[in-house]
Amino acid sequence: MPAVHDVLISGAGVAGPALAHWLHHHGIRATVVERAPAPRPGGYAIDLRGVAIDVAERMGVLDEIRRNLTEMNGAAFVDARGRRRAGISSADAVDDGRSLEVLRGDLVRILHTPTTVYTEYLYDDTLTALEQDGDRVRATFEKAAPRTFDLVVGADGLHSTTRRLAFGPEERYARFLGAHISIFTVPNHLGLDREALLFNVPGKGSGMYQTPRAEGAKGIFLVRTDGDAGIARRPPAAQRAYLRAEFSGLGWENDRILDAMDASEDFYFDSVTRIHMDAWSTGRVALLGDAGYCPSPMSGQGTSLALVGAYVLAQELARHDGTAEALAAYEARMRPYVNANQAIADAGLGILAPRTRRGIVLRNTLLRAGGPLLSLLGRFDERLSRAAEALDLDAPVVSRRVV
Ligand SMILES: Cc1cc2nc3c(=O)[nH]c(=O)nc-3n(C[C@H](O)[C@H](O)[C@H](O)COP(=O)(O)OP(=O)(O)OC[C@H]3O[C@@H](n4cnc5c(N)ncnc54)[C@H](O)[C@@H]3O)c2cc1C
Repeated sequence: MPAVHDVLISGAGVAGPALAHWLHHHGIRATVVERAPAPRPGGYAIDLRGVAIDVAERMGVLDEIRRNLTEMNGAAFVDARGRRRAGISSADAVDDGRSLEVLRGDLVRILHTPTTVYTEYLYDDTLTALEQDGDRVRATFEKAAPRTFDLVVGADGLHSTTRRLAFGPEERYARFLGAHISIFTVPNHLGLDREALLFNVPGKGSGMYQTPRAEGAKGIFLVRTDGDAGIARRPPAAQRAYLRAEFSGLGWENDRILDAMDASEDFYFDSVTRIHMDAWSTGRVALLGDAGYCPSPMSGQGTSLALVGAYVLAQELARHDGTAEALAAYEARMRPYVNANQAIADAGLGILAPRTRRGIVLRNTLLRAGGPLLSLLGRFDERLSRAAEALDLDAPVVSRRVV
């Protein structure tokens, strides 16, 4: 007998639809509330690794994911005049089938579409209050009438509303990693073909990449800062102005990317932040994916944590007849896996945006030399692979005393 019968999920990104799938699989009804009016197509490239690939296979969506791979060939670092100074080819990476890259929008569509047959989606709405009364949670929405559920799961991303309503303000849990990142669609005026070009000045990176899975190309900006001046919470116009001030006149294609940024309709800007919480549930409200344990985009593991978390949460809800026991088991199984993956979050920044001119030159020299940096990257890759495999999807039931 499952611990719960009806669950409200806030957020229809990666974690939300994956949880709706697994709850349905275990005979539990899910309702999903999503702030956006519809699933958003396109977006940036994300990776699925390790046991997350096994979860996708068990969901029956792995073949469809494989048909949507970004098929990138590699990346080159260019100087202010566009000359290629160093590069990484996909051929250098170990391809053991345990790492797949897709566009986030494609993955969301692949996860979401099958669930619409049996899941109620409330689009263009959001939670405004949660009240727990022991056995049920009363959810109040901006538009829909209030309803009660056995459990509410916040799968509403880094800036989770569920977390704020049930656990308190974001500042308590967010750890700023000293950078802001922006991605948006730009025309492919360089005629890139399955390739990324990346440019640096100390503490800043910009770039463009093209994949056949999307129109045009993607423009990227990455800025390292010591303190968080709250720019990620400001309106998009202020964020665009900030990037213009940081990248204007730096050479290479920066001015053209800035102009394209102004015209882009899918401008994304956020801080590079991890979420750390001592507990991922309080009573009958639980957190999943970035809402509870965002490892930051630099780890490349957020999507995998979201997919695996959805699998484990639904599995434990189905295995236990008490909600508290199920949520404790979810946390006990996920905590070591989340810790291992959050621990690798910082390495990417030093390679994508070295802080000094010397650091940039050193990186390029080491990349050209092939040996030391590639073996360092190889070791990073090995650490990442180990962390990505560090969960047993078929772990036996462990009964824990809930205090
Ligand atoms: C630039 C960038 C690059 C990244 N690269 C990678 C990578 O290479 N590999 C990787 O694994 N991960 C990567 N990530 C991280 C990855 O996108 C996330 O970790 C992953 O999407 C987490 O899934 P989620 O479902 O928890 O959250 P999200 O995908 O963020 O979904 C949250 C959903 O909740 C909705 N929502 C938000 N607020 C509300 C509300 N109040 N009410 C209702 N709905 C709401 C949102 O609209 C969204 O649909 C990257 C992220 C960024 C930003």
